[in-house]
Amino acid sequence: MALFGKPKYTIVRLKKREIPDGLWTKCERCSEVLYNKTLEENFKVCPKCNYHFVLGAYERIRALLDKDTFLEYDQDMTSADPLDFKGPKTYKDKLAQDQQATGLKEAAITGEAFLDNKKIVIAVTDSRFIMGSMGSVVGEKIARAIEAATKNRLALIIVSGSGGGARMYEGILSLMQMAKTSAALSYHHQQKLPFISVLTDPTMAGVMASFAGLGDIIIAEPKALIGFTGPRVIEQTIRHKLPPDFQRSEFILEHGLIDMIVHRKNLKSTLSQLLDYLS
Ligand SMILES: [Zn+2]
Repeated sequence: MALFGKPKYTIVRLKKREIPDGLWTKCERCSEVLYNKTLEENFKVCPKCNYHFVLGAYERIRALLDKDTFLEYDQDMTSADPLDFKGPKTYKDKLAQDQQATGLKEAAITGEAFLDNKKIVIAVTDSRFIMGSMGSVVGEKIARAIEAATKNRLALIIVSGSGGGARMYEGILSLMQMAKTSAALSYHHQQKLPFISVLTDPTMAGVMASFAGLGDIIIAEPKALIGFTGPRVIEQTIRHKLPPDFQRSEFILEHGLIDMIVHRKNLKSTLSQLLDYLS
């Protein structure tokens, strides 16, 4: 007879604590579980590790502008499907899916509003909508917003959240938006009107290489991914290991690509001071 029989205990697997939907959010960086109300009050920034959560375009507008002053331009403009694109998903399906998920018609919202009682034109791209990529509608809405700022002699603020750059579902028409928005900005600049570009996580590729990179002042949120080509492709091309914080706000500030890093809670007051200074 064995001296010791089989253990008489059973392993109890603890159920993961169930988190009711819509009450709590887990921080994507430090995994802290955060009460949604606290997160909202803190501008959607993790109070523990300072992680800046993605803000939707309308949330950004509410956070930055004076209450009920936003007058939206071109609200109903939606994308056509010029290439009749068919991949794993058709372009039409992708548009419908992201419209449903975000409540937006396209990846950019534009309009005029007041920021600390100063009238401005603003555009915001939303990285949740086809990665905030610049198709014809995003390009057209942003170009029109810039032209409205030039015509009415107003300062311009563009907040970019675009991981996708150009929108390949639209081929060459998408790439043409880079030239169009840049040309509109050069007329705005010729009139000696200020343009402040705000880069959020992520701002990459064709967006960074056109309007987002052309600000008279370029501000980034902390630790945002900012660049042209993604780090993996660069590593494969140059066959060098890149530093760990490569293409993050702090790294590119040190290398002179941007002018300042501003915590989200100070963004409105910083923009207000810059507008005073530049006008
Ligand atoms: Zn955190």
